[in-house]
This record gives sequence, structure tokens and C-alpha cells, in this order.
Amino acid sequence: MADIESLKRDLVTACRILHREGLVRAFGHISARIPGTDRLLIPPRMGPGLVRAEDVLTMDLSGKVLEGKREPNSEAAIHWSIYRARPDAMSVAHTHSPMTVVIGDLGLEVQPLHNEGTVFGEGVPRLDATGLIQTEEQGKALVAALGRSNAALLRAHGDVVVGSGVREACILALYLEDACRLMYQCLQVGKPVFLTPEESARIRPKTFNEKTVARAWEYFSEIAVR
Ligand SMILES: [Zn+2]
Repeated sequence: MADIESLKRDLVTACRILHREGLVRAFGHISARIPGTDRLLIPPRMGPGLVRAEDVLTMDLSGKVLEGKREPNSEAAIHWSIYRARPDAMSVAHTHSPMTVVIGDLGLEVQPLHNEGTVFGEGVPRLDATGLIQTEEQGKALVAALGRSNAALLRAHGDVVVGSGVREACILALYLEDACRLMYQCLQVGKPVFLTPEESARIRPKTFNEKTVARAWEYFSEIAVR
């Protein structure tokens, strides 16, 4: 049980971080698979910046709430659909972050322009179906678009990222927004010179690993909960 409580605390911290960094306001969510189970922890239908550990719901992979009193998020299918299809997925974040919408709506491919962006160097697929993702069928379409990637853009909506844990998923979401913002800013003044796949492959292991995620988490969590 102690592990579940610490997982809930990390989820709450991740919610605060995503809120403070402007990736979510009233909408958006991050979840975690309970290790070794087909269950997930997910905040209820409320602004992520308001979530407390006692609000967090336990849900199965059909979207049924097993524990918790509050109403589930209307897009919980994003989470349980990905956990069903991706055994490697231990945490999923879905945000409506502005720059991922901009790049998705421009129909541009996310390409890295900075060291941290190389974590997306193998490409970020885009789901072109619009609107909310609330049904099993819509969840399957998202899973098909996502494939084995660690992130996908949702046109006119936002993005999803998949991590090996809550901390990693949270930092990935921040880096995806950064990568999209840098693309947007560079496009204002010229033609960006993107990092090549070879450059990305060389840089990525040094800029996105257990230690760099831990350092980023330490920084963002400390300033988010002050
Ligand atoms: Zn959404």
C-alpha cells in the first residue's frame, strides 16, 4: 500500500507541475499503472492543479472505477486504451498544451531543435481524428496512431505522452511542449535547422536518462509545490 500512496503523491505533484508550467488549466490529466496489475490511478474530473491524493481514483482497463468517490474524467479512455495495448506504458499524460496544438494544427512534424527535444527524434505521430477521446473505438484509433512512440499529437486538441513512470511522463510532456514552442519560435524568423536523426541518436542518451529525468523532476516539483 505504501507504494500506491507514494504513486498517488507523485501523481499529485505531476498535476501541480503540469499546471504551473502552463500545460493544463481546467482540463488534462496524468495517470499511472499500478505496477504488476491491470489497474491504474487517475485523478477525477477536476482541474489538475486542484487534485489531492485522496481524490485519486483506481480504475480497471475497461474504465470502471474500482475505488474513489468522484466522477472520472470524460477522456479516461485515453489512459486505459494505451495501458491495454502497451505493456511498457507505466504512465500516460494527456494535456491540451498550446504549442502542441499549434504544431499539430500546422500539420508539421515535430523535429528536435534542442538537446531535450531529441527524445522525440524518432518522430511524433499525429492523430488526425478530432474531438474528445471518450469511447473504446476512439481509444483504439489513438493507440493505432501512437504505435510504439513515446508521444502523439492530437489535432486541434493537444497531445499524449507515454512514460516508464509518472516522473518520466511528466518531464516528457514538458519537453514536448518545449520542442513545439521552439519550432514555432524559429519559424517566426526563418527556416529552422533541425537536428538530424544521427545527431538526435547521439545526443539523446546524454540528455534523457534516469539522472536527467531525476534532476528535472527535482527542479520542477520543488518550484511547483512552493
Ligand atoms: Zn483532451
